[in-house]
Amino acid sequence: MSSAIVPVYARADIAFERGDGCWLTATDGERYLDFGGGIAVASLGYSHPHLVAALSEQGAKLWHSSNLFQIPGGERLAARLAEATFADLVFFSNSGAEANEAAIKMARKRQSVGGHPERYRILTFEGAFHGRTLATIAAGGQAKYIEGFGPKVDGFDQIPITDLAAVEAAIGPGTGAIMIEPIQGEGGVRVVAPAFLRGLRRICDERGLVLIFDEIQTGVGRTGRLFAYELVGVTPDIMTIAKGIGGGFPMGACLATADAAKGMTAGVHGTTFGGNPLAMAIGNAVLDVVLEPGFVERVAHLGLLLRQRLAELRDRHPQIVEEIRGEGLMVGVKLKVPNTEFAAAARAERLLTIPAGDNIVRLLPPLILTEEELSEGVLRLDAACRRMESEIAAMRKGVAE
Ligand SMILES: *Cc1c(COP(=O)(O)O)cnc(C)c1O
Repeated sequence: MSSAIVPVYARADIAFERGDGCWLTATDGERYLDFGGGIAVASLGYSHPHLVAALSEQGAKLWHSSNLFQIPGGERLAARLAEATFADLVFFSNSGAEANEAAIKMARKRQSVGGHPERYRILTFEGAFHGRTLATIAAGGQAKYIEGFGPKVDGFDQIPITDLAAVEAAIGPGTGAIMIEPIQGEGGVRVVAPAFLRGLRRICDERGLVLIFDEIQTGVGRTGRLFAYELVGVTPDIMTIAKGIGGGFPMGACLATADAAKGMTAGVHGTTFGGNPLAMAIGNAVLDVVLEPGFVERVAHLGLLLRQRLAELRDRHPQIVEEIRGEGLMVGVKLKVPNTEFAAAARAERLLTIPAGDNIVRLLPPLILTEEELSEGVLRLDAACRRMESEIAAMRKGVAE
């Protein structure tokens, strides 16, 4: 199929034309159970009546007014996010990468106004993913995203997530911040040890560094807590969110303590689209649902159930499945067969999953998943495992003949 779109995506040959809850319907009429959630974006699934109502209502009133004027919906969303988290202040962006750009600039500015303009460097970790802008590819540090795009943006030093002594050793006079995903998403649902995150907090406190959590994938209920930092009992100084907060509408945010945001005064940063009335109406509508009593607890319960079922799946298919990991409805299935082939086998069973680093497929279903849908998804994963097993058997037979 010829396409006029810049071919940076390896797309499956399926187009969806409608969605309903956890289900997507393709143009050929086939229905798929979506355990990918558009990469953790469709937090409330598709066509959620409360989101559709918010979009239609705001859509008929005002989409955009610019940040030259007051935006009451944005004031409300910021106040609610601050109320629900460690943060005092919120900057709205249009995407995750832009939220991280805001976080990076905020941390550097904080050091600068604190009398340390030389502390602009940020420690990041191997396997990280922070976005695709020039600064965030440098922060993520993955060669495949950096190569060929000119000089790597200076100011990011990357180390493996090993021990805190290595972190201490990597901190130099130019270090001003540490940036980490509490659970690496694209890197392969790698859960960072709580003790490591608590250690980072201590180091940042001792050395006057800004601690940034990238919760663009883990945030907004995904891990069975409103934010993953709650799982480990430490709070960052700055936290970025995106994916789930828009429920499918492109938006992001950089949340911060008043102290971390100290240098962010009128005119030093901004965006044309960020925080527009339409995005804010939808963000508020997502929060209406996610903040309902019991909502995130239910996600935690479903997550436990899913990992239990997947542990059984691993026992039934030891040739295919190596390990299950994750928190809440952010689950990684580490495979012994190539993850893209497994994802294709799952697609053949009309189940969507998302390949990630470390030969993982990620399961990131809408948070409104029912227990019946959870069971149905596991059945389909089981069928995908059996497909892979018969392929392996056929290959062996071919070799033997
Ligand atoms: C998706 C993601 C980003 C980038 O978000 P975009 O909206 O694609 O710019 C950054 N960090 C993490 C952890 C992500 O999962």
